[in-house]
Amino acid sequence: MELALPDADVVVVNTCSVTAEADRDARTFVRKTKRLNPGAKVVVTGCYAQRAPQEVAALDGVAAVVGNSHKGLVPEIVRGVLEGARVEQGAPLISPGDLLGTAAPVWADDRFAHSYIEDAQVAPGSQTRPNLKIQEGCGNRCTFCVIPTTRGDSRSLAVEKVMAQVHGFVAAGGKELVISGINLGRWGWDLGEKRSLAGLVEEILKETGLQRLRLSSIEPMDWTPELIVIMRNIGGGRLARHAHLPLQSGSDGVLRRMHRRYRPWHYEQKVAALREAAGPELAVGADVMVGFPGETEAEFRETYEFVARLPFTYLHLFPFSPRPGTRGWELHREAPVAPEAVGERMAALRDLAAEKSRDFRGSFVGRWLPAITLHTPASLAAQGRTSALTDNYLPLELLHRLPSNQLVHVRVNAVNAAGGLVGEIQPSVGNMAAAS
Ligand code: SF4
Repeated sequence: MELALPDADVVVVNTCSVTAEADRDARTFVRKTKRLNPGAKVVVTGCYAQRAPQEVAALDGVAAVVGNSHKGLVPEIVRGVLEGARVEQGAPLISPGDLLGTAAPVWADDRFAHSYIEDAQVAPGSQTRPNLKIQEGCGNRCTFCVIPTTRGDSRSLAVEKVMAQVHGFVAAGGKELVISGINLGRWGWDLGEKRSLAGLVEEILKETGLQRLRLSSIEPMDWTPELIVIMRNIGGGRLARHAHLPLQSGSDGVLRRMHRRYRPWHYEQKVAALREAAGPELAVGADVMVGFPGETEAEFRETYEFVARLPFTYLHLFPFSPRPGTRGWELHREAPVAPEAVGERMAALRDLAAEKSRDFRGSFVGRWLPAITLHTPASLAAQGRTSALTDNYLPLELLHRLPSNQLVHVRVNAVNAAGGLVGEIQPSVGNMAAAS
């Protein structure tokens, strides 16, 4: 991202705090932002600002800190910072005087009274497949996770707002929309009516002309029978054949220490039901955490063998990162896993995931897949090619130049050196437009 913004009076930095590395990156980013924009006020918001506001306030050059609890007040706070005025609603909860010397004022507490789910209209633009966030926060208490503290309990975007967003996206020419949330499967639980994600998906597909809907990450136990039936009936058509179920560990003991709400066999049953419903073309992805406190070699082997056995097509791998204020932080102090062991385990899973992904991609050579064209990097466009993504989440290089945002049917010819598919469009498909 471009950090020098010569005309800016204020720069708002949105931070993450999911790992210690994310905190470090945020600190570096804030310092660099101030260095490159010495005349601008730097206001820091997001999860790091929520989790450790005083730590952020003490960084050099920070003018104000706004936790997620008060994120909805950022425009007003920014105005106040510029004018040197007090912000009417929600004056700083920690004044500079409470902190050491030069620290900035802080707006952050644990009530999330001013937090909101962004409701800005999604439209196809710089992103062909934008994310529509329909749920925020989480009511679970996984022992490694800081999100319940930084984002509060689960909240859902009202169904009318979701539908208005989807209608608007379609009217603006959008073809593929990804619906997402921190704990997407809990969408609707707080709406006071009998609402569920499955019902919402049905309504979107019935009431709007959206041509492709993709579901982002859903906790294993939130893949309800109703949602799986929808995947059976519509997967590969208007619903992308793509299921991402966070796993974290394949060891029962580790899952219990993590306070995850399923056991490995529950997870396996869900994946089997989804595959049976959507077929072997289904993309199955998972997040896996390595080196959770006390993870023994035997427990890691359980995870490794579990991953090897299940039909994963890609994995997101993370080393455990202790987060202050969580139970995992204390467990890490009691029983840390040696960094060398974490490194070896990460490498073993990375190799396994690469092999599984390669096999999955290779199985499509000579077959047809639905896909959507994306914005193409200049180097690829110069070769007369187009970037695309299949409905089952495989990157694809088309041997033609097409504009972005075209739904196409592609015959896969090969897998390239980078592991992406290479293919050609079916000449008779009507919705394909040659690039002008
Ligand atoms: S379900 Fe996800 S967001 Fe919620 S506490 Fe667990 S890891 Fe965090």
